[in-house]
Amino acid sequence: MTAPRPDASPHRPYLEEALRLAREAQEAGSAPVGAVLVNAQGEIVARGRNRVGEAQTPEHIGAASVAHAEMDVFFAVGKVQGAGELTLYTSLEPCLMCGGASALLGVGRVVWATSDPWGGSGRIIAWSSHPAMQETEVLPAPDPELEREGARLFAPEARRAFPEEGWALWRERYPEETAGLE
Ligand SMILES: [Zn+2]
Repeated sequence: MTAPRPDASPHRPYLEEALRLAREAQEAGSAPVGAVLVNAQGEIVARGRNRVGEAQTPEHIGAASVAHAEMDVFFAVGKVQGAGELTLYTSLEPCLMCGGASALLGVGRVVWATSDPWGGSGRIIAWSSHPAMQETEVLPAPDPELEREGARLFAPEARRAFPEEGWALWRERYPEETAGLE
C-alpha cells in the first residue's frame, strides 16, 4: 500500500493562479513561471511572474536574469512581515536563488505545481539544512492534474534553455508532457 496523497484541494486555487500568471509571462515574452504569496487568512497578498524578457519598471524587476517569478513577488511585497504565516505558491519548483530567498525570509511554506528536475532546488538541496533557514516547509506537486499542466506549459522552455543533461531529466520525469519536443 502507498500512503494516501495529502488533500490537494486547499492548494488548488493558488496553484491555478500561479499557472495563470505563468501563461501571462509567456505571452509577454518571458519564461512561463508564476507565483503568488498567500497569508494565513488565505488571501493573495502578492502576485509575480517571470519578467526576464521584459523591461524593468518602477513596480517590477525585469530585463535581468534574476527576474524570476518569486523574486517579482518578494519585490512587490517589500518588507516581509510575519513570514512564517505565509505560503508561497509557484507554478514550478523554485531554483536555488528563489528557494534560498524564501528560506532566508523565513516563509512558512513553499508549494509548487510542477517539479523541475534540472533547475529546481527544493528536493535536491534542503534549504532547511542551512542553520539560518530552518523554518520553511516544502510541499512538492500536491495536485497531479496541475502538475501535468505545469509540466506541459514549461516543457518547451526546458527544451530551449536547459542543456541536454537537464532536458534528459525532464524527459525522464515527465515523459508524456515532453513527448513531441525531442
Ligand atoms: Zn528562481
